[in-house]
Amino acid sequence: MTAFTPAPFRVQQRYRSLPSEFYSPVQPTPLRGDISLVHFNHALAAELGIRSDSPEDWAAITAGRELLEGMVPVAMKYTGHQFGAYNPDLGDGRGLLLWETRGPDGVTRDWHLKGAGQTPYSRFGDGRAVLRSTIREYLCSEAMHYLGIPTTRALTLVSAREPVRRESIETAAAMIRVAESHIRFGHFEYAAHHLGEDALRTLAEHTIEHHFPDLAETEEADRYPAFFREVCRRTAIMIAGWQAVGFCHGVMNSDNMSIIGDTFDYGPYAFLDDFDAGYICNHTDQGGRYAYNRQPEMGFINCQFLAHALRPLMSDDDLRRSLRSYETCYNETFAGLMRDKLGLAEPQEDDMTLVMDTFSMLHQHRIDLTLFFRGLSTLPSQGPSPVLDLFVDRSVAEQWLARYQQRLQQEQRSDDERERAMCAVNPRYILRNYLAQQVIQEAQNGDYEPLAELLTVLQNPFDEQPGYARYAAAPPDWGKHMSISCSS
Ligand code: AMP
Ligand code: MG
Repeated sequence: MTAFTPAPFRVQQRYRSLPSEFYSPVQPTPLRGDISLVHFNHALAAELGIRSDSPEDWAAITAGRELLEGMVPVAMKYTGHQFGAYNPDLGDGRGLLLWETRGPDGVTRDWHLKGAGQTPYSRFGDGRAVLRSTIREYLCSEAMHYLGIPTTRALTLVSAREPVRRESIETAAAMIRVAESHIRFGHFEYAAHHLGEDALRTLAEHTIEHHFPDLAETEEADRYPAFFREVCRRTAIMIAGWQAVGFCHGVMNSDNMSIIGDTFDYGPYAFLDDFDAGYICNHTDQGGRYAYNRQPEMGFINCQFLAHALRPLMSDDDLRRSLRSYETCYNETFAGLMRDKLGLAEPQEDDMTLVMDTFSMLHQHRIDLTLFFRGLSTLPSQGPSPVLDLFVDRSVAEQWLARYQQRLQQEQRSDDERERAMCAVNPRYILRNYLAQQVIQEAQNGDYEPLAELLTVLQNPFDEQPGYARYAAAPPDWGKHMSISCSS
């Protein structure tokens, strides 16, 4: 590895300091056949403090063919509730924690190689990931980051000639995902239900020390309740962010919930196009457990699963009190985000009635969420047409706009100021499913340029980007409400 010279960048061993029951050392199984670098994330590389003048060198690492000095890969063990049922047999079945590095910003991050081959936790799986789903994760985690929603990131992506059997034969791929932690709610469920109180306490202390350092000095009696309260708070903030932007995760199992409140494990996710409150993006979720409008409740249920695991560490009263903070925090955060989206800087008592009525209208008339709020943002400079044109029955929109204009009269900000503020929170560009589908098809044909271009557009979701208007357009009919398979 010639071109690789670590900048101010230190290797750390956090996760491997846990008891050995929490992981298994596993070497990656190299991808076979020709490999090609599909994307390298220069912006993230800079944050990590790694040189990227020769990104091709990272292809071999991502393909599991080379390890850098200091990489000691391990598969993490965790369990979790999948669609409400407890599964003790989970863990990194195709992913490996490669190492943890501290960047020039002083932040330590995990590097996780997804698609690295089989591990002791693979069950019947082949340990591989496919190009389609790794591109989807890569795109969405970057899109979420630039939308300001806490998320894992994506550093590199390779594809290989090796065929992988899913519902059809697909192209094998692997990616490196980066996050401040890969510890999940499911790690705590594993410790509590299989290892016992000592291991649970060790995991809690480890998580607090490395990921919630502000709590480390708190007295033990308060430390665990404060930790759990903070996890509930971060989870609530993350999900409020999803709801405001119309993001559906699709598989909110407790093993896919990050303890630090990152959006995590992108599978059959979707951004809403025409607004449908009950939208189910995962076609295997027939009961709609993880439908868009159930996500806030599902976040709470996952916090309850976590509470159950944490019972040996604190009283039920403390757990209940911390759990209650989820709802308060969700409601406050969501209300704040919606006020910002509507451009309401001076809160009024019945603002939430306006918000709920707005959602009802969008649902009833199946209005594109993103185009509606962006159109509303530019009312002063563009007039009402971008909003009115979204409705078949324009009188519905006219009545709503009249009510909205009346509400705006209670605001002090100038129209210009409000427009600027609203454009900074209502994205012009989101990752519509059909856009992802198009770049996946191009990549499967060996052309990675469209993927790179889409990623560039998604880096500035709030700015007008001349020349890229097509990415902001409403989806074609074939591209609406695509339901995505869980198989990845
Ligand atoms: P997911 O649906 O990706 O959240 O994965 C659920 C569980 O299945 C986790 O324990 C994964 O590690 C495991 N898993 C998913 N896909 C594979 C695969 N292709 N090979 C082995 N294990 C897998
Ligand atoms: Mg998962």
